[in-house]
Amino acid sequence: MAHTADIVIIGAGVTGSSIAFNLATRGITNVVVLEKNFIASGATGKSSACIRQHYSTEVTARMVRRSLDVFENFGDVVGGSAGFTRTGYLMGVPEQDLDALKKVVAMQRRVGINTCFISPEEIREIEPRTRVEDLAGGAWEPDSGYADPSDTTSSFIRRARQMGVQVHQGTEVTGIQLVGGAVAEVVTNKGRFSTPTVIDAAGAWGDRIAAMVEVAIPLTVCRHNICFVKRPAEAADRHPLFYDFVSQVYTRPEGADLTLVGSLDPIELNDRVDPDHYDHGVSYDRTVEMTGHVTHRFPRFETGYFHSGYSGFFDVMPDWHPILDAVPGISGMYMAVGFSGHGFKLAPAVGEMMAELILNGKQPETDIDAFRFTRFAEEQPIRGMYDEGLMG
Ligand SMILES: Cc1cc2nc3c(=O)[nH]c(=O)nc-3n(C[C@H](O)[C@H](O)[C@H](O)COP(=O)(O)OP(=O)(O)OC[C@H]3O[C@@H](n4cnc5c(N)ncnc54)[C@H](O)[C@@H]3O)c2cc1C
Repeated sequence: MAHTADIVIIGAGVTGSSIAFNLATRGITNVVVLEKNFIASGATGKSSACIRQHYSTEVTARMVRRSLDVFENFGDVVGGSAGFTRTGYLMGVPEQDLDALKKVVAMQRRVGINTCFISPEEIREIEPRTRVEDLAGGAWEPDSGYADPSDTTSSFIRRARQMGVQVHQGTEVTGIQLVGGAVAEVVTNKGRFSTPTVIDAAGAWGDRIAAMVEVAIPLTVCRHNICFVKRPAEAADRHPLFYDFVSQVYTRPEGADLTLVGSLDPIELNDRVDPDHYDHGVSYDRTVEMTGHVTHRFPRFETGYFHSGYSGFFDVMPDWHPILDAVPGISGMYMAVGFSGHGFKLAPAVGEMMAELILNGKQPETDIDAFRFTRFAEEQPIRGMYDEGLMG
């Protein structure tokens, strides 16, 4: 069967879904979302979905500030639920990151983020169960928290569908046909879609979509391990998100008495995987290491126990920031890939930025130019105030 659409979006993760929603709210409803599996079946469904605002570049700080507004008012702005839970966000850093941290906090306050620098003693006042002797200082964001990634994505998709967007699950894109250097048709296992515009929002498969039009992007896919520990009854109260840059792990509460633990160590980049075929488990060694870091930071959790674990994957770019741009030389092709392990929290802003880019072109002075396709060839990657990695 032949289909036509003004715009085809490849991938129904949180990125593609937010773009679909944002196009539809701007009146572009002849949009088709193609998803080879099911909604949120990629990295999104496995996401820890932490919404911290601590970014060390002004563009990402502004994006996360804007995105938090959406998460906080999700029912009104989008409809449905994002499952946003405000816990506050604590971070602790070693001595060598202290100067950068102070500069980042000052920049963030300028862009309207509710954050402050705090001493180790103040960290313990906010969360008395923490060990702080090896921390030099930290930051506190009372408004941050975490959300439900599947609910968020389904809500974007539901609202987009209500406005006319079509979503085809179980539909795998196998090719993109160009005519005279312009997008003409998207080929799938379920038929062809004529369209002048296609958006690659395929996450860890984003380079494979790009390769369909003979474009290469520097994407690395690596495993990201997650463990859950059960807090003991005597220390079961919920804790804030805690990003521990000494032990290199982050923690957030999950449900009533579990703590989710993920790694902040860029060494995970060495654990490269194929997102279609990889080990979804967590090794015994990683489990011991990660849970050990939790009990180091929260000694009172020592009488709790390991609950479960799994692995997802990150789509990492060389500067740990995505490409949000039109693809040079191919009329009608756009890209929103390479979120490098922190794309969930940015998705509301990314949807807005991509919709504006497609409808109005790249406006001078917009933040989106920082995420341009050509920045790697130009040797102008995005640089934050810390070393590269998840700190952004
Ligand atoms: C374990 C884990 C923890 C994380 N924690 C956080 C966090 O705390 N905070 C945060 O902000 N971010 C976090 N992230 C990162 C965040 O989840 C991702 O950046 C974000 O979900 C990426 O969304 P996406 O839509 O770009 O990609 P995906 O969710 O991977 O979606 C891409 C979709 O494209 C589809 N697709 C691929 N190829 C094709 C094809 N040929 N045809 C049709 N469809 C196709 C896939 O099936 C997939 O559903 C985490 C990620 C993981 C894995």
